[in-house]
Amino acid sequence: MAFAYHDDRLFVEDVPLADIAARFGTPCYVYSRATLERNWRAYDDAFGSRRHRVCYAVKANGNLALLNILARLGSGFDIVSRGELARCLAAGADPQHIVFSGVGKGAAEIRYALEVGIGCLNVESGAELARIESLAADCGRRAPVSLRVNPDVDPQTHPYISTGLHENKFGIPMAAAAQLYEQAARSPHLAVRGIACHIGSQLTSLVPFVDAIGRVMELVHALAGRGIRLQRIDVGGGLGITYRDEAPPAIAEYVRAVSDAVGRDYELVTEPGRSIVANAGLLLTTVEYLKATPVKNFAIVDAAMTELIRPALYQAWHDVLPVERTDSAEVRRYELVGPVCETGDFLANGRDLALAEGSRLALMDAGAYGFAMASNYNARPRPPEVLVDGKFVHLVRAREVLEDLWAGECTLPA
Ligand SMILES: *Cc1c(COP(=O)(O)O)cnc(C)c1O
Repeated sequence: MAFAYHDDRLFVEDVPLADIAARFGTPCYVYSRATLERNWRAYDDAFGSRRHRVCYAVKANGNLALLNILARLGSGFDIVSRGELARCLAAGADPQHIVFSGVGKGAAEIRYALEVGIGCLNVESGAELARIESLAADCGRRAPVSLRVNPDVDPQTHPYISTGLHENKFGIPMAAAAQLYEQAARSPHLAVRGIACHIGSQLTSLVPFVDAIGRVMELVHALAGRGIRLQRIDVGGGLGITYRDEAPPAIAEYVRAVSDAVGRDYELVTEPGRSIVANAGLLLTTVEYLKATPVKNFAIVDAAMTELIRPALYQAWHDVLPVERTDSAEVRRYELVGPVCETGDFLANGRDLALAEGSRLALMDAGAYGFAMASNYNARPRPPEVLVDGKFVHLVRAREVLEDLWAGECTLPA
């Protein structure tokens, strides 16, 4: 295990977290290269020899060093903006192995994607298809497209991260897809590659994935009957992880299930984000104050919803581990809260911990949707990101300095 105690000290790979806290300060995100690579390889190995591409979903964590490590393994990427495309290219990704998702691609984003030779645009509406066609005609390129359909399957996850229900904003309704495919197939400016779906995030059961793919494959076969033969089936991302007591299938089980549901006649694309980076990262924090009120014990720490918004946004659970286990303080039940001026600014509720001022804690499984969703609210500079590789420690993003907070702003002339 990349995160483990040795003599009551919590390590990341071969490095004690206390050393990282001493060197870089807190709050600080810490990532394990070995865990990142193990998770990506679990997908790639499970696919074996079948035609496939693992396209890491950049929105989960877009740090350049992480993207570069994945690109070196041969990963593709799933992006949702021109900024993410630029990040991937800066990290050395092959544009042919990038798929562009998202309901609101702007004209400049589509043009940029076509200019760099994007692998596929996953189209989410008839209006977007028409826009892509006309931009492709303008720049004299044939745009590679898949239609992202909405299979109307309940993923049984938190409503904010469900995307595959017909009431969600995502995807093209199944009933409308066939006609759009016929339109796309006739266009000299579009190259129809395949079909895509993505039904939600943090799914802990295979059933919704298999149901959704079943519906998608019915459409694929119907299209083949009309002479439209699709090459690639993009099954999206969304496999869950264990934050607390969830029991998601192993990556290999997931791969077996989606591979069987698609069949061997197609290239299979997956877009995992969370299941590749979540458990490869943690957020390191320090207790500033202990504050006992008549009803609660608060541990006020130096991290906040600005660094890890998942608890505030989805009532999410993150494990809290002491960086050094000690019996010099009494175990009490604590509410872990940050300094931000919002009652919703909590990181963990009701945890039994032995704390003192200055105690260091690790909020586990913060590699996905941690830094990626961080903000400067309350004028808080964003923390550094540190990557551990065996006994080596790399600062892969520096802590923001105060001047960064107003970069690009100016005052009015006197
Ligand atoms: C968010 C997203 C993903 C990744 O989801 P995870 O739950 O992080 O695996 C993949 N594809 C699309 C289209 C997405 O929006």
